[in-house]
Amino acid sequence: MNTKPEVADVVKERSMLLQKEMIADNYDQLTSAGELGKKVSSTYVPGNLNELIMCFDMLNNLPEINAINNAMRKKSGAMIRDAEKMGHSEDVCTYVKADIGNMAKGAIAPNGKPMPVPDLLLLSYTGCFTFMKWFELLRDQYGCKTTMLHVPYQADGRITDNMRDYVVRQLKEEVIPALEEVSGVKFAIDRLREMLRKSAVAEDDFVWVLESAKNKPSPIDAYFGGVYYIGPIFTAFRGTDQAIEYYKLLRAEIEQRLADGKGPVTPEGELKEEKYRLVVEGPPNWTSFREFWKMFYDEGAVVVASTYTKVGGVYDYDGFRHDPERPLESLAEYCLGCYTNRNLPTRVEMIEANMKDYQADGFLINSIKSCNSFSAGQLMMMREIETRTGKPAAFIETDLVDPRYFSPANVKNRLESYFQMIDQKRRAGGTPAAAA
Ligand code: SF4
Repeated sequence: MNTKPEVADVVKERSMLLQKEMIADNYDQLTSAGELGKKVSSTYVPGNLNELIMCFDMLNNLPEINAINNAMRKKSGAMIRDAEKMGHSEDVCTYVKADIGNMAKGAIAPNGKPMPVPDLLLLSYTGCFTFMKWFELLRDQYGCKTTMLHVPYQADGRITDNMRDYVVRQLKEEVIPALEEVSGVKFAIDRLREMLRKSAVAEDDFVWVLESAKNKPSPIDAYFGGVYYIGPIFTAFRGTDQAIEYYKLLRAEIEQRLADGKGPVTPEGELKEEKYRLVVEGPPNWTSFREFWKMFYDEGAVVVASTYTKVGGVYDYDGFRHDPERPLESLAEYCLGCYTNRNLPTRVEMIEANMKDYQADGFLINSIKSCNSFSAGQLMMMREIETRTGKPAAFIETDLVDPRYFSPANVKNRLESYFQMIDQKRRAGGTPAAAA
């Protein structure tokens, strides 16, 4: 009996199973926070201060992740409709409406238990105005303490000393005192240093995983697979031994795939032939995630780099790592460097570099109806990338967690025409075949 495929499946499953266990365990901890005597901080993925929160023995609840989980379970549509009945406009970010709608029905976590009332709303403001309005709504609902870390926008595409000092001062004078007050735990900077040291170890392996897509064929899909890979490091695990273990395991699996010359794993097994290598801008659609992914792998399209894997921290572009020697400064630089906190020229430069470094055949934008942070300026970005790289670009529109805005026939038609466009360009001598 040939056991090879089964062995490969088991190896593949280990990192996925570990990741699932970690996320489930985090939800169990959150929903048992009262019994465990733990305080809870709600905060957002971009600019999250996970290591700092853990220094105070607090748990980290991320509302966007709750909305994504509900979307993948096909529950977000009803929550959004409930929020709209409560008066929230159709144009509001659907993460917000999914959260508000869920809250109105008891804020049930994916494990079926009620989420705890947050003890602190910690708003690390990294470029999205919606973050502020969202926490205003939660503050009205919960009446809990709120702290804001104001992170200046990188309008000139760089971080100045003044910007860094301004964020560090707020960490010292506002955020740390608030965490001490809520938790009753005194801040210990050496504890933070130890966690940041662990963050940097996981970040190195994470970047290795992303950069493995420079190989042909790519052993990973950096968008549809990438959303699983970013899970631990973008949420409640940065700075933990579990994150180190997860990325070590994931890296070993991908090293094996590379050694075997294999392509990415899809929900229907391994991709046999890589026909198109794409760079994708924008978050994916979550309500029809599998259906959306299938439209790519059925055509042999592999995403070799995506901007979405940079929303919770940019580690690959300019080599940022959390630094235990400069703990508060590096937390400040992390927040300042978040993708949505960078100006459009910088985002274009990042995409252009990805197109070249990952030898992409084309650039695709999935424009999200309700996310202004990502969507503003995307048409300009598309034209600029086309001009700079000479590669074909395309634009599709879906939404994050609102099933009403995912039109499968339209998206599929657009993608099929786009792949034909890449083929035509190749025939005209513009782009060599991806797998060649
Ligand atoms: S508008 Fe976009 S960046 Fe802002 S909260 Fe919604 S999804 Fe996140």
